[in-house]
Amino acid sequence: MFGYDSFRGQQQEIVEHVTAGGDALVLMPTGGGKSLCYQIPALRRAGTGVVVSPLIALMQDQVDALRALGVRAGFVNSAQQPGERRAVEAAFLAGELDLLYLAPERLSTESTLRLLERGVISLFAIDEAHCVAQWGHDFRPDYLALSALHQRWPAVPRIALTATATKATRAEIAERLNLTGARHFVSSFDRPNIQYRIVPKNEPRRQLLDLIRTEHPGDAGIVYCLSRASVEATAEFLVRNGIGALPYHAGLDPGTRSANQARFLREDGLLMVATIAFGMGIDKPDVRFIAHLDLPRSVEGYYQETGRAGRDGLPSTAWMAYGLADVVLQRKLIDGSEGDGAHRRRLAAHLDAMLALCETVECRRSQLLGYFGEPAGTCGNCDTCLTPPKAWDGTVAAQKLLSTVWRLGHERHQKFGAGQAIDILLGRRTPKVIQHAHDALTVFGKGTELPDTQWRGVVRQLLAQGLLAVEGDYGTLVLTDASNEVLYRGRQVLLRHDPPRAAARTAKGTRPAAAAAAAGLPGEAAAVFERLRAWRAAAAKDQGVPAYVIFHDATLRQIAARSPATLAELAMVNGVGESKLARYGGPILDILRGPGGPAP
Ligand code: ADP
Ligand code: ZN
Repeated sequence: MFGYDSFRGQQQEIVEHVTAGGDALVLMPTGGGKSLCYQIPALRRAGTGVVVSPLIALMQDQVDALRALGVRAGFVNSAQQPGERRAVEAAFLAGELDLLYLAPERLSTESTLRLLERGVISLFAIDEAHCVAQWGHDFRPDYLALSALHQRWPAVPRIALTATATKATRAEIAERLNLTGARHFVSSFDRPNIQYRIVPKNEPRRQLLDLIRTEHPGDAGIVYCLSRASVEATAEFLVRNGIGALPYHAGLDPGTRSANQARFLREDGLLMVATIAFGMGIDKPDVRFIAHLDLPRSVEGYYQETGRAGRDGLPSTAWMAYGLADVVLQRKLIDGSEGDGAHRRRLAAHLDAMLALCETVECRRSQLLGYFGEPAGTCGNCDTCLTPPKAWDGTVAAQKLLSTVWRLGHERHQKFGAGQAIDILLGRRTPKVIQHAHDALTVFGKGTELPDTQWRGVVRQLLAQGLLAVEGDYGTLVLTDASNEVLYRGRQVLLRHDPPRAAARTAKGTRPAAAAAAAGLPGEAAAVFERLRAWRAAAAKDQGVPAYVIFHDATLRQIAARSPATLAELAMVNGVGESKLARYGGPILDILRGPGGPAP
């Protein structure tokens, strides 16, 4: 049915466990192959597999993809016409559905529960299970109702799946979903084909444009920004520079939002510029890069977002521009956030972990995996591995900066941010320096050994290390208890040298930009591959589905490389299942025979 040669990773174990009626909690990275873990048991057990998923906007595509494989699938959600819903419900009751996708809020309504009770359920699959955890970053109150499934259907196996969970989140998922007795399947979270890079931010949009032009021209990508305004401005900037980009954020009307999402999924080489409102469940396999123009709030969120790159296993980039203003802004957001002290401490802990990742001189990947409790060595495919940053003893610089902040703190009615402190250290007689007579301070001009950009790096890193803090709306710098250790007790401060330019792609397994998908195919096969792609584009347009629902690039590549002459040979290609063979086998063999071959 699926056309694969073999299981991947723990798939087989999980499939056997759930098929036999066992409960499971599955942690697998994005692109690891979670869906198969409940789809096959649902096909093999009697009744319908009920899949709970928060991804209403994607249910149609998910169901289309399954139907293309010959799986009898349907969905029920609020975006649906009543007639359509009744048809799906009837099919479910008649035992004619293998899989039924439901939005979580459906399961808190009595009518849905009664409907489910009248049919036969083979299993419950709870997708994006981290949504039940408050400690995580995607909490959805509707998920809490899912704990009741077990009481109502004690004999039906449940499988919860997520691509993101620290130990704390995992424990919370198990507890809240009543899955403490379930078997846990924890795969490696590593995504070796993604290259992680974090660069100092100076002109973020320019830097992004550079990245796209030099490494990812014509590739599909997602650009994350913090605010709606910067989403709009960035999308416009890219379009002005000749790059196809669409905005996506919660402030757009639903029609525009879903039209933009559909275009991103269906067209080749578009960029989506989005807030974090976009992306969960996006299973477009050929997203080649994820760019963050603002600092994400947590490592969990960041890893989830970057995981959307390279689901097809081909080399991809996760790139972030990060600077002083990000730290100031995030701290400010936390101070101003609603909720109690415990909530704020949780946010602060998330931010600290994110900052530690940004400022590390060690391998980014081993730091990321370490965060998820997975030990790992250096990876050779992240910026710090490729161009190891140097650490330097920043104790004296830190002392100079902190004593400047201390002196500014003694002024009665004025609050000063990083800019003023740096101007003073560099001995600049700006109007503001003169107005406040700051050129009379003993620290004035005492920091000329470092350039402006490096001083900003010092401020940023001291903030990240908690040796300095910000306060109020204008990012006023203030000392912390730890500052005193540096000022008076000789605590040493190690800082990271920001590399002058982003590390270039030099790891093995990387590729020159453009014509990515065809790369590595000999001339003849590359031409066939392009013909297959053109055929696929037309077929996808005809059926109104994304191209990858018909076949993935990887499958077309293999077909082009092997050039099967018969249906039987074509069936051996990974990704060609029975139903697709029957439907597309003829046209594909025609294309392979070439324009000179027998007429279709
Ligand atoms: P996840 O939900 O874990 O992000 P998916 O279930 O969407 O991942 O699978 C990721 C990709 O891997 C999909 O394109 C799927 O078709 C493919 N895939 C899954 N299992 C296998 C397998 N055993 N062999 C080959 N490809 C697979
Ligand atoms: Zn590394």
